[in-house]
Amino acid sequence: MKSNHSFDTLIVGGGLVGAAIACGIAATGSKVAVLDGGDRDFRASRGNFGLIWVQGKGADFPAYARLSGISARQWADFSDELRDATGIDVGLQQTGGYDFCLTPEEWEAREWEMRQVAAHTEGEFEYQMLDQAELRKRIPEVSNDLLGASFSSQDGHVNPLYLLRALHQRMHHLGVDYHAAQAVQSSRRQDGEFIVTTQDADFHAQRVVFCAGLSNQRLCRDLDMHIPVQPLRGQLLITDRVPRFLPAATLQVRQTAEGTLQIGDSHEDVGLDESATLEVITRLARRAVRIFPHLAQVRLNRAWGALRVMTPDGVPIYHRSAEHPGAFAVSCHSGVTLAAFHARQLASWICSDVEDPLMTQFSADRFDV
Ligand SMILES: Cc1cc2nc3c(=O)[nH]c(=O)nc-3n(C[C@H](O)[C@H](O)[C@H](O)COP(=O)(O)OP(=O)(O)OC[C@H]3O[C@@H](n4cnc5c(N)ncnc54)[C@H](O)[C@@H]3O)c2cc1C
Repeated sequence: MKSNHSFDTLIVGGGLVGAAIACGIAATGSKVAVLDGGDRDFRASRGNFGLIWVQGKGADFPAYARLSGISARQWADFSDELRDATGIDVGLQQTGGYDFCLTPEEWEAREWEMRQVAAHTEGEFEYQMLDQAELRKRIPEVSNDLLGASFSSQDGHVNPLYLLRALHQRMHHLGVDYHAAQAVQSSRRQDGEFIVTTQDADFHAQRVVFCAGLSNQRLCRDLDMHIPVQPLRGQLLITDRVPRFLPAATLQVRQTAEGTLQIGDSHEDVGLDESATLEVITRLARRAVRIFPHLAQVRLNRAWGALRVMTPDGVPIYHRSAEHPGAFAVSCHSGVTLAAFHARQLASWICSDVEDPLMTQFSADRFDV
């Protein structure tokens, strides 16, 4: 006979997304439980690049541009809040971000994207297009091959593993009941409440939020939510420590607080395969050397692959079920960038019955055409 547990809110999945939302909801006084899977699950939160990145986000989707900006602008305060509450410094460096251009076509496409994002955010998104001479003044190590770069002062980076740890620590302080290795098998709505079943227990709640990464598609079907997420592999490399030379993050290489370089990141449509491959490692390393020739002498230490949680248009899904009020699904591929927004505005939206015109644009209904 299974045991029964009751909460106000159940969060399914304890990655960056589930943990941030759990913190936000628990802070309102709601009794929250997080049901997480096991170590063999695909977990984007443990394999990502750690960028807080606004540049280009939402060029084709104005609401996403606004949302990314809202989150990035709160990051400094959010990281202070996490440090004060948990003692964990997530290593935020928000000194801007560079995205390099190697060809005139890249430059032209980038400039268009930057203009779009600035227009969508009514000028709140600040950017500059830097030619090679300008770029060299800021990063003398860049190669002659580069035409230049786009730069935004709103971008930055953190240590994503410290972020996950801080969010879990914060959940603990806020009294969230975290259950590891409690993979959800099924969910149903009965007599006005949700019953979520794992191998060991039935969990009851008035509200359930699915944040199970790539498992969302399968799990959400039980409550008639269509959440079309797909894996997209990225590979990342780590070098030995090198003398500090990068004043800010770049989309291709970031220097960690410890001095190593993290080099990324590929976009590979290979299904549920998270292995690292020599071909992609070589390509990423060559590109890094093409941008920064002095890295040819630096030793690579390790590499890994991880699967992004991708929606068909690359924009987050924040879905509130109309059929089953109280059921939500959250899927996104920028869980670091959006962590501040998730812990604050998104958690408030989930707790509120009032619909927000900004948020309705992120419903999964946009794919039902
Ligand atoms: C290579 C790469 C680079 C990236 N770079 C960046 C970046 O620079 N900046 C950025 O903002 N984002 C980046 N991302 C994206 C970011 O990592 C993700 O958006 C974020 O980690 C998604 O978090 P999540 O909690 O939704 O998913 P996950 O981390 O996948 O977590 C899902 C959780 O659900 C659990 N789960 C699965 N099935 C069940 C079940 N049946 N029952 C209960 N629990 C279950 C799992 O165990 C896991 O803990 C990157 C991702 C990748 C792969």
